[in-house]
Amino acid sequence: MKEYDLIIIGGGPGGYKAAELAGHCGLKVALVEKGKLGGVCLNYGCIPLKGYLHVARLVNEVNELRNDNIFSDIDAFGINQTGVLERNQYVINNLQQGIKYKLQKAGVAIFVGNAKIAPEQGGQITVTVDNMCLSAKNLIIATGSKEIRFPVSEEKLSYRIIYSDELFSLTRIPTRMVIVGAGVIGLEAADYFNAAGCEVTVLESAPEIAGGMDPDIAALFRKILQRKGIRIHVNSTVKNFGGKELLVDMDGEDVHITTEAVLIAVGRTPVVEGYGLEKSDINYNQDGIFIDESCRTNKLNVFACGDVTGKFMLAHTAYEQARIAIDNIMGKEAYINYHLIPKVYYTSPEVITIGLSEKECVAGDIPYITRELPLTYSGKYFAEHKKDGAKAKMVIDSLSKTVIGFSMIGDGASEIALAVELMIANKLSIEDIGKLVFPHPTVGEIIHELAAMG
Ligand code: FAD
Repeated sequence: MKEYDLIIIGGGPGGYKAAELAGHCGLKVALVEKGKLGGVCLNYGCIPLKGYLHVARLVNEVNELRNDNIFSDIDAFGINQTGVLERNQYVINNLQQGIKYKLQKAGVAIFVGNAKIAPEQGGQITVTVDNMCLSAKNLIIATGSKEIRFPVSEEKLSYRIIYSDELFSLTRIPTRMVIVGAGVIGLEAADYFNAAGCEVTVLESAPEIAGGMDPDIAALFRKILQRKGIRIHVNSTVKNFGGKELLVDMDGEDVHITTEAVLIAVGRTPVVEGYGLEKSDINYNQDGIFIDESCRTNKLNVFACGDVTGKFMLAHTAYEQARIAIDNIMGKEAYINYHLIPKVYYTSPEVITIGLSEKECVAGDIPYITRELPLTYSGKYFAEHKKDGAKAKMVIDSLSKTVIGFSMIGDGASEIALAVELMIANKLSIEDIGKLVFPHPTVGEIIHELAAMG
């Protein structure tokens, strides 16, 4: 039996971040990963999708500038999908080596295999990895999530059903694709395939796309994507996956759609099976392992982080939960603040939201005012995009005059999110923000403009 201070199950963002931090704190750490180091984020998620979106952004920008007669000699140009896949793989391999290097530097022992929680022995946590037995004082579960799948038999279909994992091994761009679900994965995929020349139709059962975003920003987002040629149908659900076509209920009307591929992007569900959780006395249900604000489960020495907790399934949530868990294991009190987790769509244009929304202010009886401006108030944005409809909106506590929420649609938004997070976390007032020196010209100047509005 190999003994450790901490065993971590899962080598995705939650697991590898926790392992690295714990190793640097001097803990003897074992990390078990059954698939690929880096988890969904590196191998089938954030990173390869951002590789796709980088290409999409360039295509969009060239098209925009071509329409403005900026380029004289560009005729039709297209995406070489094989080249994009190769570029993605190169990036993934390098980043994977980087994670391995950081873990080795932190003294973490990496085990490859399927971890299973075994009954405790003498108060010690026991985990088996194939035929090996590990024991530790503490356990972090970071087993992530998997796609929600539809029970469709593909044999009788003349089109292909795809889930997000398979997006990154598609060697040919389909001519037509239906995307079921207008959340972040569905819309980011729509943006890439549209730029790659595919005819994309997005179906969303809710009345608006991009659930959780400010309603005004979401409506604008839909219009901008539609203007780029993406067909978006809200209040629409698939009634039947037929042989040659899909039967869709669009606002109460039956519509048949012929397609070559259907991407199902209706969300992800925590991985709570296959590793002995059901036989342990750790509390969980199908929506995730229950944790408190210190990321601790109902058991004092067992923590969980990342998608398996079912809370804001984002890589940076996993990182933050990992940090909180390690602080608590090291005896420091630390608590997570989910309000400060930025939500980002990396489409063209990007969309972000952070802090409180108007809806949350109303629900929490928080007195607030909002200010909003078009992004054309930023000279840099205007020069780069002209009038694409982009805008930013600030939610301000009307008593303290501090910024409590921010939403924006416009390229550059993802890089601004951190600045806004700092302002909200440090309770900066609009007067404080007015005194900051923003580099000119930058897209971020929009924050200064919003703060200065009378
Ligand atoms: P995972 O990354 O799922 O890692 C869990 C790991 O645990 C896996 O490697 C798995 O093999 C391993 N494991 C499971 N069970 C066992 C076991 N019994 N034994 C050993 N190992 C086990 N988030 C963002 O913040 N930004 C983005 O831009 C973004 N884009 C995304 C795009 C897509 C297409 C998808 C699908 C997701 C995206 N996400 C994004 C979400 C992000 O990928 C996840 O939030 C993140 O990967 C969660 O990290 P995790 O460590 O909890 O789990």
